[in-house]
Amino acid sequence: NHRIRLGSRPHGEPRPEDFHHDSAHVGSPDSGQVLLRTKYLSLDPYVRGMMSTAKSYVTPLEVGDVIVGGTVSEVVESAADDFKPGDVVLSFGGWQQYSVEPATRLRKLEPQAAPLSTALGVLGMPGFTAYAGLLAIGQPQPGETVAVAAATGPVGSAVGQIAKLKGARTIGIAGGQRKVEHLQELGFDEVIDHRGPDLDAQVKEASPEGIDVYFENVGGQVWDAVLPQLNEFARVPVCGLAANYNATALPEGPDKTPQLMRAVLTRSLLLRGFIQREFVDSMFSDFLTDMGQWVASGDVVYTEDITEGLERAPEAFIGMLRGENFGKTIIRIS
Ligand code: NDP
Repeated sequence: NHRIRLGSRPHGEPRPEDFHHDSAHVGSPDSGQVLLRTKYLSLDPYVRGMMSTAKSYVTPLEVGDVIVGGTVSEVVESAADDFKPGDVVLSFGGWQQYSVEPATRLRKLEPQAAPLSTALGVLGMPGFTAYAGLLAIGQPQPGETVAVAAATGPVGSAVGQIAKLKGARTIGIAGGQRKVEHLQELGFDEVIDHRGPDLDAQVKEASPEGIDVYFENVGGQVWDAVLPQLNEFARVPVCGLAANYNATALPEGPDKTPQLMRAVLTRSLLLRGFIQREFVDSMFSDFLTDMGQWVASGDVVYTEDITEGLERAPEAFIGMLRGENFGKTIIRIS
C-alpha cells in the first residue's frame, strides 16, 4: 500500500520534502468495515491548513499521519452488509492506494449516473460549498451583481454558474489569460485577471452598479479591490482565503481592519463565514437533485485537472495552491 504522509510541517509554501512516501501492509476489514482501493483522490486547499498547527475548523494532522482527502474508491473486500466487492463509493481514504474504512462513512455511487470523479467536484463537496454558501448566505436576486474569485476552480465556477441561473449578473476573477478565457466560456458577464494591471480599477469598471454578493474564496488584494464596490446590504459568504494559506507573516503596511469595519457599519454589510458541513442536513439532498439536473442538462459545466499517479500528488497540491490547477484538482490512481 503506497501512501503519502506528512513528513514535516511546511513553513510557507509546502516543498516536496514535506511529503513522506512509504509503503505498508494493509489489513483486512473488521466487522462493519470494508477494504477499499482508491480510484480518484481529491486535492483540496483546506489540507494546507491541516499541515500547520494554527487554530482552524479542522483538526491538524500530526507529523507521520497519512494526508487526508476525499476519494472515490472501489470495494475490494467487505465485512459490512450493504457493500460488496466491485461497488464504487465516495469515501475519505486519503493519500494512499488502499484504506480500511467503516461502512457508515461511505456513500455508494452510481457509475452510470455521472462520471465518478464528479463526486469529488461539481457533484461533491466543492459543488455543495458553492450551492450552500451562495444560496443560503449570498441569496442572489435577479438583476443583482455577484462577484467571485478563484472562479475557474470547482467552488468558484459553480458559484458563477448558479448565480447566473438565479438571474444575477456575474463577475469572475481568476489568474492568467487562459483562465480568463475560460471564464468567458462559462458565461460570466465580466471577467478579470487578478494578475493584470490595476485590479482596483478593473473591479470598479466591471461593477457600475456596485456588487451585491461577493463570494469570498481568496482574500488578499481581490478583497481590497472588491470592498469599496460593495453596495448597501451586500452579503459576503466568507468561504476561503486561498491567498493567505502559504503566508508566513502579516502583510506590510497599515492595518486595513478599521476601513473594513467602517464599511460593515455604514453600508450594513453582512459578512458570514461558513463551513459547508453546517448546511449538509438542510440542503444536501436538494443540492444533489438540483446540481444533478443542471450538470445533466449542461446548465452547469465543470472542468477537472487530473494528474496520473499517487506519487505526483505533492507536486499537484503545491501547484494548486499556486493557482497552476485548471479546474478541480484530482489524482487518478490506476
Ligand atoms: P481552487 O481549485 O479554486 O484552487 C485555489 C485557487 O485559489 C487557485 O487555483 C487560484 O486560482 C486561487 N488563488 C490562490 N492564491 C491566490 C491569490 N493570491 N489571489 C487570488 N487567487 C488566488 O480551490 P477550490 O475551488 O477547491 O476552493 C476555493 C476556496 O474555497 C478555497 O479558499 C477553499 O479553501 C475554500 N473552501 C471552503 C469550504 C468551506 O466549507 N468553507 C469548502 C471547500 C473549499 P487563480 O489562479 O484563479 O488565482
